[in-house]
Amino acid sequence: MWTDEVQKLKQERNAVILAHNYQIPEIQDIADFTGDSLALSRIAAETDADVIVFCGVHFMAESAKILSPDKTVLIPDADAGCSLADSITAEQLQQWKEEFPDAVVVSYVNTTADVKALTDICCTSSNAVEVVASIDPDTEILFCPDQFLGAHVKRETGRDNMHIWAGECHVHAGINGKQLADQAAAHPDAPLYIHPECGCANSAIFLAGEGVIDPERVHMLSTGGMLDQATQDTHGTVLVATEVGMLHQLQLKSPNTDFQPVNPQASCSYMKMITPEKLVASLRDMKDEVTVPEDIAAKARQSLERMIAIGNPGSGE
Ligand code: SF4
Repeated sequence: MWTDEVQKLKQERNAVILAHNYQIPEIQDIADFTGDSLALSRIAAETDADVIVFCGVHFMAESAKILSPDKTVLIPDADAGCSLADSITAEQLQQWKEEFPDAVVVSYVNTTADVKALTDICCTSSNAVEVVASIDPDTEILFCPDQFLGAHVKRETGRDNMHIWAGECHVHAGINGKQLADQAAAHPDAPLYIHPECGCANSAIFLAGEGVIDPERVHMLSTGGMLDQATQDTHGTVLVATEVGMLHQLQLKSPNTDFQPVNPQASCSYMKMITPEKLVASLRDMKDEVTVPEDIAAKARQSLERMIAIGNPGSGE
């Protein structure tokens, strides 16, 4: 059995296995810890293990390495990328900063280490509003890379000196307002859990404002927030607008609730690149190791630590 092999190798290596909520269920089930990217990075920083196997996408493993530079961090497939993190490069951010030299840069955690190193403060979806609100109202802000989260923060803070990068995650952007409206009509009593990165996030607020959806039903939540909310919604149907891997943890949290995806096709192919075979090979052959140059890591660490200091960073994706 591959699971026995993983347990044996894990002991030999003194390794800990961390799995993101969007991993396939088999990987979530064998992991020592499952959670969102920030929670997993914190566990990585505190563990006594010598080796961290990060079952998620590359920028998440980089964050773990930035916060725990003395550990060996492995990802079972270094090609597991992220379309949102790829939507802004360090060169693009540098050029943008040159256009607005006095602006403060706020970046969502779904960014590469190089982009974090050029960032003043990182944020998660849980504390993005607080991070932006903490900045002098007369100071311009460059917010990247997610346009949907940026629009949510701009609306909540009422700020008009905030420039938003037009990046998006192809999975979340693919969950649209029409699907949301159709599903909400088909399940008129179901609460809606919506990740603010979703293409449908603006539609949900619009439909609630128009009275089409009862605003009480709409919960804008990070993935960690969804798990907390699931302990209160213990029966009936709940509609979930985020990557479908999330349904596994929600169902474990609240077994008698029927969690339904707003878009069943919303599956991240990068997350699903991590397979049992690659996990075994990762532990056996100590690959793919994730490294971050120390000068980049030092600057990126500062932007992450500022994020942790503001409000409740809770969780991101
Ligand atoms: S779901 Fe989107 S944001 Fe998350 S890892 Fe996949 S591509 Fe990136």
